[in-house]
Amino acid sequence: MKLDVLGLQFDNVTMEEALAAGERLLDGDRPGIVVTPNAEIAYEASKDADFRDLLNQADLLLPDGAGVVLAAKILRTPLRSKVAGIDFAANLLPIFARRGTRLYLLGSKPGVAEAAAEKMKVLAPGLIVCGTHDGYFQTDDAAISAVNDAAPDALFVCLGAPKQEKFMFAHRGELATVRLMAGLGGSLDGFAGNVKRAPKWMIRLQLEWLYRLVKEPKRLGRMMRLPKYILLAFRARRKG
Ligand code: UDP
Repeated sequence: MKLDVLGLQFDNVTMEEALAAGERLLDGDRPGIVVTPNAEIAYEASKDADFRDLLNQADLLLPDGAGVVLAAKILRTPLRSKVAGIDFAANLLPIFARRGTRLYLLGSKPGVAEAAAEKMKVLAPGLIVCGTHDGYFQTDDAAISAVNDAAPDALFVCLGAPKQEKFMFAHRGELATVRLMAGLGGSLDGFAGNVKRAPKWMIRLQLEWLYRLVKEPKRLGRMMRLPKYILLAFRARRKG
C-alpha cells in the first residue's frame, strides 16, 4: 500500500514486506527499481517536481530514516516502519546467497566497492558478487557495459541522490540481466567500514550529528534540510 508523505508515494511496509517485494522483483521479467529517500532527499524532492516524479515511478519507495517517519506522524498518516536503505541491502544479502543471485556493486570511491564486497561475503556466506566498479566513471556507457559484462541479477547503485536515481531510470532498458536495482547512497562506504563513527560518549549523548558536522562543515546546508522538511510537514498539517 502506498502512503503519500509530502508528495512522495512511500510503500507503507515493514522490513519483511520490503524484502518480500524485493524477491518479487527478482522473480520478475524487467529491471525493478528501488529508491530509499531519507528526509534530506525527500526535502529536495518536495522542491523539484521532476525528481519527485522520478522517485514516484520506482517499484519500491522505502522510507530511509527517522525524519520521514516523523513527518508522516506529524501529518497524522503514520508509516508502519522505517526501512533504511543500508538495512534493506544488508537483509537482502542472505536472500541473494540462498537464491544464487549475482550481485554487482556500482559506486563510491575506487576500492570501496571491493572492500564492501569482502565484508558482504562475510555477512552472507555464499554470496556471489559478480563485479564492482567505482562511481567516478567518465561516461555512463562505460559503466553500463562493465555491468552488462558481469551479467548481474541485482545491482546496488551508490552514486548519491539524485545521480543514482537518474542513472537507474535512464538506463534500466539497457540492463538486460538486472531484475532488482537499488539506489543506496553512501551504503558501500558503510559496508566497507569507511564511515568513521563518533566517540562512544558522543553517540551516547545523541551528538553523532555534531561530530559529523565538525569533521565536515560543508554538511551544514545538507543537514538543515531535515528541520526544513519537518517544518514543511507541520505547515502541511496546518493547511489540512
Ligand atoms: N559518489 C559516487 N560518484 C559520484 C558522486 C558520489 O560514487 O559522482 C558516491 C560517494 O563516494 C558516496 C556516495 O556516492 O559513497 C554518496 O554518499 P552520500 O552519503 O553523499 O549520499 P546519500 O546517501 O546522502 O545519497
